[in-house]
Parts: sequence; structure tokens; C-alpha cells
Amino acid sequence: MLEALAALEKEGQEALKALREESELPVWYREFLGRKGKLTDLLRGLGALSPEERPKAGQRANEVKTALEEAFATRQTEIKNAAMEASLASGGLDITLPGRPVSPGHLHLSTHTLRRIREIFAEMGFQVYDSPEVETDENNFELLNIPPYHPARDMWDTFWVNEQVVMRTHTSPGQIRCMRENHPHPIRVILPGKCYRYEQITPRSEHQFYQVEGLAIGHNIRITDLIGTMREFARKMHGEERRLRIRSSYFPFTEPSIEIDMDCILCVGKGCRVCKHTGWLEVAGAGMVHPVVLRNGGYDPEEWSGFAFGMGVERPAMLHHGIEDIRFFYNNDLRFLQQF
Ligand SMILES: [Zn+2]
Repeated sequence: MLEALAALEKEGQEALKALREESELPVWYREFLGRKGKLTDLLRGLGALSPEERPKAGQRANEVKTALEEAFATRQTEIKNAAMEASLASGGLDITLPGRPVSPGHLHLSTHTLRRIREIFAEMGFQVYDSPEVETDENNFELLNIPPYHPARDMWDTFWVNEQVVMRTHTSPGQIRCMRENHPHPIRVILPGKCYRYEQITPRSEHQFYQVEGLAIGHNIRITDLIGTMREFARKMHGEERRLRIRSSYFPFTEPSIEIDMDCILCVGKGCRVCKHTGWLEVAGAGMVHPVVLRNGGYDPEEWSGFAFGMGVERPAMLHHGIEDIRFFYNNDLRFLQQF
């Protein structure tokens, strides 16, 4: 019995060493250690042994079993590692297989539009000037020629933080900051950013929205420079064939003030629902910087002149993509956002 066990252990070890493939491992296990394997077979003979021989043979049988199981585990690891190394060495990684899909985010439609606007003005030499969304009443109104009693304040429904501090209602307070920082040097900047108004939310107006302000200060800057800049912008943003229309208007911080319209990009001036059958769409409110504002910014209006404009960001995006409700921009509905 003991000799038979020793012979089985030797046979098992050698057979294990001869294995090369992972698929051969379970075959070996069944043959030597399985329920119907060679070791079990031998153990059946235990009953035929004398009571003196039996414990010794049983103990030896357990030793053989443990030794073979340990050898099997070691060989299994060896074969698996070898297989992995061989696969790596042979370039078994198939790089032509499609990757697992990742879902990266993308830019918000407002950001896209803002970037396009920035690009166009950058080509015309405008830098970007950032200014805060929370402003003093002084910057948002007073220094822009809108004193506390001025009826023009009714044009901006305002969120008040306290008596002196507001959520900016337009990007224009940035003009004051920019002028005070740069005088007495010429300025050519755009001021993009978010504005807030205490308004009823409807498909056409939100209480938060983006605006892009423009400001150019220099010697001999004239209203024709403003119109030329706006024409260049409208053509780059909305198509080379765009035509502009200038109307007189009123803003407290510009004199004279104008509204700039372009022919409707959908109906090309014939009149449609989007342009309310006028054939024209609003591009920007603009004008020559008011002498009072120039002076508040540190520039002598006898020596300096400049123009300013302000335009929406969501509106042109709505036009281009046929979006009928401005509220989609802010309610974070992926069904909307993923379309752009
Ligand atoms: Zn139209």
C-alpha cells in the first residue's frame, strides 16, 4: 500500500510537470484527485489492510493528497501566467476592437455661442474683460448716468442684495471698471457674462441670461466705426449676405443711442413668425459712450470718444437652432442639452 501511494505521488507530479495547456488542468485533477480518480481507487484498498497497518497507510494517503493538491495549485498558477505572458508578447491585445463607450460631456449651447462671439471679436482686436456678477448700485446704475431718481431705472427690474448691492442687470457696469483700470490708454474689449433681472419667466425671457458688452475708447472714434464693427460681426456670425438697419434709440449711458437690426436669417427680410413679420431681427443696442460715463471712467470727453454695445447670447442661439423657449437653456434637461 505504501509503495503504491509513493508510486502514485511520483506519477502525479510527473504528469503535472508535463502539462502545458490550461485546458489540461481539470483533466489531470479528475484523473488523480477526482472522486473516481486514482487516489480514491487506492484508498478503497484500505479496508483490506490489517488494523495495525491501516492508520499508517491512511496518514500517508493524506500526505500524498495534500502534496498533490499543492503541486496542482502551483502548476495552475505557472500555466496561467505563462499563457498571459505569451498573449501579451504575441500582441494578443486586439487594438482594432471597438473600445468601451465613454460618455464625455460637451459644452453648453450658451458656451458654444459665447466662444463663437469671442472668436469673431478677437479677430477684430477685442480683448475679453471679466467683471463681477454682483455689483454696487453705483457701478450698475449711478456711474452709468442713471441716478437714483432717474426714470430709466424702470428699464431694469433688479434683484437687490441690499441697499447698495445688486445682481448686475447688464454687463455695462464692467465698462466703468475697465475704464478706471485702463485710463489713460485706449480700450477695445468685450465683456461677456451673466446678468440677472427680476422678471417674470416666459418662453422669451428668463431672470438670468448672458450678455456680451463691447467697449472701444480712443481718439476720433466715430459712430461709423461702431456700425462697421457691428456689420462685420453680423456677417461673420449670421452669414456674409446680412444687411443692417440702424434705428435711433435711448440708453442713459450712450449719446446718441441706436438699435442695430439685421435682415431676418430665416425669411431674408420677407417676414415670418420669428421676426414677427417685420423682416428684421435685433442684433444689439449700442451708441457713443455718454460724456458723463467717459468722465466717470477717467477719460476727458473733450479728448476721448468711444462706442459701446450690448447683445444677447441666447437669442442668436435660439435663432440658429430653432429653439422656441429660452427656459430650455437653464432647466438642465439632457434631452435638450444633448442635441447640441
Ligand atoms: Zn423672418
